[in-house]
Amino acid sequence: MYKIIDGKQLATQMRAEIAAMAAKFKEERGRQVGLAVILAGNDPASAIYVRNKIKACEETGIKSSAFYLPEDVTQAQLEELILRLAADITVDGILVQLPLPAHLNADRALKLIPTEKDVDGFSEENIGKLATNKECLVACTPNGVMKMLESQNISPRGKRAVVVGRSDIVGRPMALLLLNADATVTVCHSKTADLKAECLRADILVAAIGKPRFITADMVKEGAVVIDVGMDRDENGKLCGDVDFEHVKDKCSYITPVPGGVGPMTITMLMYNTCIAASRRG
Ligand code: NAP
Repeated sequence: MYKIIDGKQLATQMRAEIAAMAAKFKEERGRQVGLAVILAGNDPASAIYVRNKIKACEETGIKSSAFYLPEDVTQAQLEELILRLAADITVDGILVQLPLPAHLNADRALKLIPTEKDVDGFSEENIGKLATNKECLVACTPNGVMKMLESQNISPRGKRAVVVGRSDIVGRPMALLLLNADATVTVCHSKTADLKAECLRADILVAAIGKPRFITADMVKEGAVVIDVGMDRDENGKLCGDVDFEHVKDKCSYITPVPGGVGPMTITMLMYNTCIAASRRG
């Protein structure tokens, strides 16, 4: 019988713990943990993400400051704002909501965020530290997956982990985290020769592909732990994951649903990273 890893429940529990961390920080340091969020342009999905992040800050006692820049903001104006926030001692984390309007150079802008305030964990320094198993700020979604495994006492040590997807924000850092946790890791992608054979070897299978219900029951080993990072729309426009949950679940020991799985953990981990960044900065 499979067990569902309930991300919504874990996120609620973690937000209470994060609120306690933030309250302790305020008591000890005499100021709130601070997160600055920059949104440039009018992308409606980005506006919703930013709103949810600000709401999560309110819930956890983190002071958020949101900066809404017009669609035609210049690179210089954006960079000037980032540099100002980088120097502001009351700002512990800086997040630039992606994607930026097409005329802006995101890479150049993101490089100005100091490593210790890079709460998205996207900087080359933080990725490099993750790759060499050093203390760093870790990308929120894969870090949330690790917390989900931990919540069920699932240790990756000695297990075969297969990550399908190698994006900078999910697949790659996910593979590094599992490797750092002593799993034997295989990373699959669109050029993988025999994806089914690779997936069938997985004790822990992480799907981060972006294709609705792509992982089918014949690709999953009996008793596997299946983590579905996907947030996709099916042919009827319904939200679903990369895993064909209905048919895969009976083969699993543990499985995450969509919605209510990895999704709710991502913003929670952003709050967590911001508190960690604050405590490390002192
Ligand atoms: P992405 O940048 O598009 O990367 C997709 C990865 O899947 C790529 O590495 C690609 O391989 C691989 N892939 C595509 N087709 C494949 C195939 N047929 N066989 C094997 N591998 C294949 O996507 P992403 O940003 O990592 O996101 C992945 C999914 O996670 C999406 O559904 C996204 O919405 C979701 N997501 C969820 C959260 C959350 O909070 N829950 C956060 C971020 C993303 P190549 O590298 O060879 O192209």
